[in-house]
Amino acid sequence: MGGTFDPIHYGHLVAAEGARYQFRLDKVVFIPAGRPPHKTAQEISPARHRIMMTLLALQSNPHFTFSSVEVERPGPSYTVDTVHEMRRCFPGAELYFITGADAVLEILSWYRVEELLSLCYFVAATRPGYRLENLQQCLGGLPGHLLQRIYTMEVPALAISSTDIRRRVREGRPIKYLLPEAVERYIYRVGLYRDGAVPAEPLLAATPCRAADGREEETL
Ligand code: NAP
Repeated sequence: MGGTFDPIHYGHLVAAEGARYQFRLDKVVFIPAGRPPHKTAQEISPARHRIMMTLLALQSNPHFTFSSVEVERPGPSYTVDTVHEMRRCFPGAELYFITGADAVLEILSWYRVEELLSLCYFVAATRPGYRLENLQQCLGGLPGHLLQRIYTMEVPALAISSTDIRRRVREGRPIKYLLPEAVERYIYRVGLYRDGAVPAEPLLAATPCRAADGREEETL
């Protein structure tokens, strides 16, 4: 599963588990985007924070695993390079790249898209109320045999969004029950998403957690 995961939330986790069940996948590898080609560095939190939140979120599902392949690879994070890497890690496996339908909307502009779609299937997870016609229209330019390799999957839990969570933190509104508690604590502890500033403090320093209202909470 690819995504910026800034932050990871229950929508992503429910989508991953739904895809695992529906497509009979042995495991789901969460791959935080390294340097998304379509975003500037200022738009996203540093990779170390997104990695840490992803690792915290995956703890309770034995079928979920993690790869830092995109973060470690220099240059823009093209999905086609990532899928080649996954094929090397899992030779002979049938691969499905799970991500948000809004990201898939842009797939025709992705690097080496035809090669990418010949290497793996895609699962485009949609939010409630998502208009599938948009996707069908945007993908109209793809040859039929490649179009058939893109599945859509409606995920009601994707009513949750990373954008909304970041906005809530900035405004001091609750984010409880939108994402795993350990991720929530991490966000408050390192002070992510406040006033657009990204803190530079070390990852696992034993600093107290700070809640949205400024109260100190226990350490992670
Ligand atoms: P994005 O533009 O940040 O997100 C677009 C939409 O998709 C948002 O609504 C987002 O919701 C949702 N989304 C993203 N990841 C999701 C996931 N795993 N499950 C469910 N919904 C998801 O997209 P992005 O995160 O940067 O990119 C998604 C993936 O596409 C990444 O792996 C990225 O590397 C890849 N990508 C590749 C290329 C290329 O190869 N040229 C170009 C663009 C993107 P949330 O904000 O709530 O997650």
